[in-house]
Amino acid sequence: MSRERPGTTSAYYRACVRYLAIDIGGSKTAVAVVSEGAITGYTTWPSASHASESLDRIISTCLSMIDDISACGVAFGGVFDFPQQKCVRSMHVSGWEGTDISSVLQHALGIPVVTDNDANVAALGEYSLLDQHEDPLLYVTISTGVGAAIVANHQLIRGAHSMFGELGHLPLGHDKPCNCGQIGCFERAVSGYWLETDHGRPAADVLADPEIHRQWVADIATGLWCASVVLDPAVIVIGGGMSAQGGRLLNPLTQALAQKASKSKRPPPAVRLGDPTGRTVLVGAAVMAREAERGSR
Ligand SMILES: [Zn+2]
Repeated sequence: MSRERPGTTSAYYRACVRYLAIDIGGSKTAVAVVSEGAITGYTTWPSASHASESLDRIISTCLSMIDDISACGVAFGGVFDFPQQKCVRSMHVSGWEGTDISSVLQHALGIPVVTDNDANVAALGEYSLLDQHEDPLLYVTISTGVGAAIVANHQLIRGAHSMFGELGHLPLGHDKPCNCGQIGCFERAVSGYWLETDHGRPAADVLADPEIHRQWVADIATGLWCASVVLDPAVIVIGGGMSAQGGRLLNPLTQALAQKASKSKRPPPAVRLGDPTGRTVLVGAAVMAREAERGSR
């Protein structure tokens, strides 16, 4: 009889009961119930400008969806200290610093809650959908900001400070100052927030310009190549809202990475587009919630 590895889609769906999944992003917040592989009761709204307002709405929404829920997983759009379960900072929403989201929600909802940064959670969701040989996975989300995560041998690699694989503030060598205090960051060159800030119109409109788009893809390729040299992933999955560029991003990016790999005489990583709708992060939050439920027994 064949044995299925933990985290495969079928194994996950079979084990799934009903979990609350929350995605707290820089621009929008979503709450869903994930049950037997289906996302139900999905609701989303523009993120509030302050953490306390955001938490109030999350709690009231969750309480309206709490029937027969076993546990809750939360994806936080910012730097997050996983061992302490505390927000370090959000780049785009004030008031999150030091907040223990899991304790606040656990107290309000009466179920186990676990939180991690949204790139880690989305990586768990994408990993659950991959073929077994595509390991390790480097997940990179390009949206309002840039996040990244590594899953190897079914485990998220978190590092000493919950920052393993965070590529957003990798220096690319350009001269633009970033919100993090450094100059020349990967995120500063390619994120939706900065495209809109620099050009004063929606990122999708900005990227309609062929020359801006060409440079944008080149900058993404440079960042991902730097990451590949260090991490040697089998597959890179590009998620986040900007992955909605589809083949217009995937094709030139795959070509650029293949050229860089050829020059260095090493195999290129496979490149895939992830889910641009943000729903995979909710599947990942449910995977994490399942682990929280097991840990509470
Ligand atoms: Zn930066």
